[in-house]
Amino acid sequence: MIALYPGTFDPLTNGHIDIALRGAKIFDKLILAVSENPKKQTAFSLEERVAMTKEALADQKNIEVVQFNCLLIKFMKKVNADVVIRGLRAVGDFEFEFQLALMNRKMDSDFETVFLMPNKEYIFLSSSMVREVAAHYGDVSPFVPECVNRRIVERFGKPTPSC
Ligand code: ADP
Repeated sequence: MIALYPGTFDPLTNGHIDIALRGAKIFDKLILAVSENPKKQTAFSLEERVAMTKEALADQKNIEVVQFNCLLIKFMKKVNADVVIRGLRAVGDFEFEFQLALMNRKMDSDFETVFLMPNKEYIFLSSSMVREVAAHYGDVSPFVPECVNRRIVERFGKPTPSC
């Protein structure tokens, strides 16, 4: 079975990686799809987000990283995916994810979402939190893979101990 793991990944965090690895253990193949998301003002371009994600997951034989910019249910058909994977963190994710899953189900009655829970250390980790810390010269290296940290330092500057 093929699973599709879509998201903005702006940038990829250790929480995203945790979910991708769990999915790749369950399914034959996991396609991580980076959304172009033109309506969202992203910190990293689509090319940068794809490059960082490819680099971080390069060792994973059954994970493929791609980009997409169309409706999820259409993209699923294009890549022959059976299910969509989404990560569920603390309760805040639930309402939005529930709405998204049911909207997709309304458009395609075969649509299935598999929700995976990350390790508890990633429950409160989000890309937006990482961007916020980085923008204030905080150290995000505990929260993202090395290749992402490198680009964050290039983009936002080196972490500083005081203001
Ligand atoms: P989106 O813009 O679609 O919310 P994200 O890049 O923020 O995309 O996240 C993609 C998916 O990964 C979502 O299902 C989100 O809930 C999940 N996710 C993000 N951060 C974490 C985390 N720390 N632990 C588990 N799942 C996460």
